[in-house]
Amino acid sequence: MNFTIQNVLIPAEPGYQTIDVQIQAGRIAAIAPNLEVIGTVVDGRHKLLLPGFVNAHTHSSEMWQRGIIPPAPLELWIAELYDFAPPDPEQVYLSALGTAIETLLSGGTTVVDHLTLIPGQEIETIAAAVRGYREVGIRAFVGPLIQDESLTASLPAGGKAWEPLPCAETAESLLMLMQEVVEKFHRPDEGIEIMVAPTGFQLCSDELFKGLVALSQQHQLCRHTHLLETKAQKMLAHEKYGCSAVQQMQHLGFLGAKTSLAHCVWLDDADITLLAATQSTVVHNPLSNLRLGSGIAPVFKYLQAGVNVTFGCDGAASNDSQDLLEAIKIGSLLHDVTDFDYRNWISPRQAIAMASLGGAKGLGLAEELGSLTVGKQADLVLYDLTRLALLPRTDPIGLLVLGRPTEAVHSAWVKGDRVVADGQVVNVDVDQLRQTLFDRSEWVFNRHSLNVQQFETHYRSVMGLPT
Ligand SMILES: [Zn+2]
Repeated sequence: MNFTIQNVLIPAEPGYQTIDVQIQAGRIAAIAPNLEVIGTVVDGRHKLLLPGFVNAHTHSSEMWQRGIIPPAPLELWIAELYDFAPPDPEQVYLSALGTAIETLLSGGTTVVDHLTLIPGQEIETIAAAVRGYREVGIRAFVGPLIQDESLTASLPAGGKAWEPLPCAETAESLLMLMQEVVEKFHRPDEGIEIMVAPTGFQLCSDELFKGLVALSQQHQLCRHTHLLETKAQKMLAHEKYGCSAVQQMQHLGFLGAKTSLAHCVWLDDADITLLAATQSTVVHNPLSNLRLGSGIAPVFKYLQAGVNVTFGCDGAASNDSQDLLEAIKIGSLLHDVTDFDYRNWISPRQAIAMASLGGAKGLGLAEELGSLTVGKQADLVLYDLTRLALLPRTDPIGLLVLGRPTEAVHSAWVKGDRVVADGQVVNVDVDQLRQTLFDRSEWVFNRHSLNVQQFETHYRSVMGLPT
């Protein structure tokens, strides 16, 4: 399908211009005034066209637990999360649909799903998520969340007696699984990519990291992992490696231009220099970092060092939404309190560029996505500037980033296919999805996690909290 978007606002330097945009054969074919009409005409008046954003880190199936986990740091939060992980691929499919739709309706055209696997049904889990993403039509990078160490290994010993439990998985079996996953699901031309995505150094052996690096080189896959999200992880890295986790990642060959690293809260200056030198991308998940008390990532330091930074929602159990515009707003405002020099603060236009081109860069697609450039793939979002939250008229991008826009997405295209039209998701019946999610869940309160109790005493002691 081809489209001609007429008389639409796009950002220009300085300000904005009103222009026509042609979408042809999946790409932006022309941007100029008064273009000849091809395909379907879209009235762009009173609308703003931007490149689609990337929801650069999430875990879709956490949607089943949003709103329920009490205030707790990552190490205790995750123990509860794992206790109640959804056991059914059909649930994974439904939460992939939900994640894709919430991402699209908040300006995202790509989702990076660090996907929790159901033990014994790993392939079925991935198939279910991929089915959801294909149905909605969003571009998806699926990184199966794999680990060959047990959750107890993720806590530092801190000089105390602490013997991690064994893990049922081995690096060898996980690498065989990943080989099969790549063969079955990696389809870059169709907008579905598999990434190698070990959970994080706190739960993975060097052997697993090395095997995944080799696999990524063999198939040109993106690499993704959690990195230094919490203070406990920083302590653990020094216990485990005798150096920082970033130095170890570099040593294992994991860093690079197609590597994106979620969180990056507890890095020091030498670590930041390494990220810049290797052109690795930081995925900033501000809401999750607040929700879990992980800390404030040193985003100004990253930007000043030339490190590419983009935004993620993180899973819906640590956020507890998938509203990408919300993550962009908080992620760009949060740091103002860390630096009196307002010249370092992130402007709304800069935030938009981080969310679009920054996201594309982290996935090795900066030549293909992330800006309104003729020849790039048409992953685009059209915002309705007549919504109440975007009025009265001032600066459209300022309203979008600094405001609290609701129902602002009028249309969205992925690879030139229109997946949102007139504010409605085109390929999936959202009312039906709402009914199904309602029917397959129930109100929950007072649930008790056994794993949290097992962790809490040691966690409090090692972090210097009263026990
Ligand atoms: Zn995460």
